Amino acid sequence: MTHTRHVERRSREEWEVFLPDHHPGYLSLEQWEANRARLKNHLWTLPTSQGAPREGAALLQGLVWCQQCGARMRVRYSKGPAYYSCDYAHRRFGEPICGWASAKRVDALVENLVLGVIDAGSVDLALAYDERQREEEARLDRQWRQQLQRLEYECELAQRRYELVDPANRLVAQTLETAWNERLAELEAARAEDRRRQRRTPPVNTPEQMREVLGQLRQRWFGGEFEVQAKKELLRCVIEQVRLTTKGKVVRAEVVWQGGARSELDVPKYMGAPMAAYYRVFELAKTHTDAEISDALNAEGLLTMKHKPWSARRVMDFRLSNGIPSGLTASPTMRSPETDYISSTEAAERLGVDQTRVQTWFRWGVLSGKQDAAQRQLWIRWNDDVARRLRGTAPLDRRMVSVRRLCAQERKPPADVFTWASKEGHEILRVRRGSSFHFYILPSPADRQNATEVDNA
Ligand SMILES: [Zn+2]
Repeated sequence: MTHTRHVERRSREEWEVFLPDHHPGYLSLEQWEANRARLKNHLWTLPTSQGAPREGAALLQGLVWCQQCGARMRVRYSKGPAYYSCDYAHRRFGEPICGWASAKRVDALVENLVLGVIDAGSVDLALAYDERQREEEARLDRQWRQQLQRLEYECELAQRRYELVDPANRLVAQTLETAWNERLAELEAARAEDRRRQRRTPPVNTPEQMREVLGQLRQRWFGGEFEVQAKKELLRCVIEQVRLTTKGKVVRAEVVWQGGARSELDVPKYMGAPMAAYYRVFELAKTHTDAEISDALNAEGLLTMKHKPWSARRVMDFRLSNGIPSGLTASPTMRSPETDYISSTEAAERLGVDQTRVQTWFRWGVLSGKQDAAQRQLWIRWNDDVARRLRGTAPLDRRMVSVRRLCAQERKPPADVFTWASKEGHEILRVRRGSSFHFYILPSPADRQNATEVDNA
């Protein structure tokens, strides 16, 4: 039978027996306290070298420091997930754990911050750097060519001296020959170096290529194209330290960039989803409502961190707590600039009608858009073509058929007529007639062609 010994460290206040200086030891209590303080201080003054990245999922391993006590935080695993933990004093001296934070949450936010920074202005920065590099290369090239010319000249000189000497004067001849040979060897070495320099391939990345790569960095990063090790190395290139304040409701992270600039961010307590889901939500949110996103995630078999299926509410909480922009949100700060959708209020304004009209037209299929449920926000898809057809500025055309007339003739509601028209590829236009507007249907180009042939027959 095996017996597992269980050792639990307690803080000094909890010790049942604490008899300072009870028996002569190596250290007095004062000395011990002093050593302890020094040890702690060592943690402060530890070289800030980040150390080589190690294997493991915690991407910021070695970069994370505790803002509360100044110690470097270590990666700990508790039943699987990794934590950045400040537990040095706990392990050595039985003090309570100073602080800890989920590595996954901290990593996700710092990754997001880094990718955001790299997305933004870094191409131009990189180009400016590239330009400086090229200027420096050109300067070195000029220097190098001068050096080569000087060596050639010296070599010629040595050769001429040698040829001019009286062969009878052997000692001088020998010395001059040696000198000439030395110059020749120098020149040969320099020429070899020159050939090597010539073979250097100039950078092949055009600004467009760089923009493309950096533009897709986020997708590639979360799309599984990078090894963990590569991610760690990349983060080390830009981040010097991440300092965590773990006391309080949110974890506050201060990111110290290489070069000394600082950013602060709050890490939500509730991360809510694995990274694959994060990536999907990020993509889908540009063009999908929270309900649509939740359907998509559920269809793809992605679950929340708590292994629950998604709901519109859960998607919204997740988006908000992770600062993910959406193309279909009323919040101006969270709104994605790439979106085609506008709110029904905005659509009503642009079309010069009231909101009820916009909702009716959406039901009829005249406007396309999205609405999760009857009482929810209606989003209208807007583009130049919609504006051209529905603002009422389209000119009247004799081939147009009045929708009102069609409805009367066919004894059908407008919705049916519009559905039929869209299906047939006919154009739905809103035309001003006097002081009012009317809907007309302009036959599709193919039908117009047929009609012309009939007319001509
Ligand atoms: Zn600490």
